[in-house]
Amino acid sequence: MKNKIAIVGAGFSGAVIANQLAHAGYSVEVFDTRPHVAGNCHSERDAETGVMVHVYGPHIFHTDNERAWEFVNRFSTFKPFVNRVKAITKGQVFTLPINLLTINQFFGKTLRPAEAQEFLASLGDKSIDNPATFEEQALRFVGRELYEAFFKTYTIKQWGLDPGELPASILKRLPVRFNYDDNYFNHKYQGMPEGGYTALVEKILDVPGISVHLNAHFDPALKADYAHVFYSGPIDAWFRHAEGRLPYRTLDFKMFRAKGDYQGNAVINYCDNGEAYTRITEHKHFSPWEQHQDTVCYEEYSRQCEENDIPYYPIRMARDKEQLERYITLAKDETNVTFVGRLGTYRYLDMDVTIHEALTTADTFLDCAKLRSAM
Ligand code: UDP
Repeated sequence: MKNKIAIVGAGFSGAVIANQLAHAGYSVEVFDTRPHVAGNCHSERDAETGVMVHVYGPHIFHTDNERAWEFVNRFSTFKPFVNRVKAITKGQVFTLPINLLTINQFFGKTLRPAEAQEFLASLGDKSIDNPATFEEQALRFVGRELYEAFFKTYTIKQWGLDPGELPASILKRLPVRFNYDDNYFNHKYQGMPEGGYTALVEKILDVPGISVHLNAHFDPALKADYAHVFYSGPIDAWFRHAEGRLPYRTLDFKMFRAKGDYQGNAVINYCDNGEAYTRITEHKHFSPWEQHQDTVCYEEYSRQCEENDIPYYPIRMARDKEQLERYITLAKDETNVTFVGRLGTYRYLDMDVTIHEALTTADTFLDCAKLRSAM
């Protein structure tokens, strides 16, 4: 019992903590309700085409965090991949994030960087001092025309809410550039695990002392059998939704196969109302080092998460803050349980942040255990 740890969820959070604790001599049991590890990062080869499919939607590893990058590279070779997103709006194809090509194409201009910066500043609404919402952030920094073309409709499709109700932090994920760099991410490292994410997570979990239970639900009542539980499932589910259900968006994917190359790029966003989906992802382009005759695509539809759906994006609205606070209070009072990851902490986290937080959570746990045994 003293040495026995339960980890709920075999995504990155759970796998990284399991790895660190098993190396420190703990006996770790990992439980996941799904038939595979890796959570929503799970990838598997399509039997018909051989394409590596990101089953729960695309995941691109990008980070500035040296520790997270060094950690994942111990378990897989990372192949170069740069996400270059295209966006269709008003019957034309543009590049995202908004960069010099987007600005010049959209406005039919040939501006240089300093001119484009000045031009965009002239379009921005300077009366907005401290943008709090997604809409204010967009209007302040790119102006109404670009906002309406690229962000407004896409965001309504993605979040089911008016951008005036969403926090500015969501838009802050996307840079605006005054050069022709169309890399979707600003980070120093970017790449894809050569054998897919599931193989990577399996390797992280491949340490003596870890046993993985798939198709297995962990009953919170069992926590007394363990010295500690790390829980990466939805925080509200642990407490049997005592404070109501926290809102999430879920995704539906309409998968189709085609001959050859369907759209010529990994991600194309649909920023207009003509299509109900937000984007089409073509999965073989996420593994550009592989050759495949045929192709697998996903149309991606976002909607409100109902009881039996898979939660994807936490909707952290100011009005839900009190409900979340009540769960945080319950979590603080829960002894011997640490809530981790996107679902456990109800935050919109990228993979690298999840991994880094899991590493520091394991450090803290091991440091405290050392202190306790020294007392
Ligand atoms: N977004 C948008 N238009 C786009 C791409 C993104 O309006 O073409 C907005 C949308 O609200 C989205 C947010 O920017 O939720 C963050 O985009 P990101 O690509 O980071 O979303 P993710 O890939 O995590 O779904």
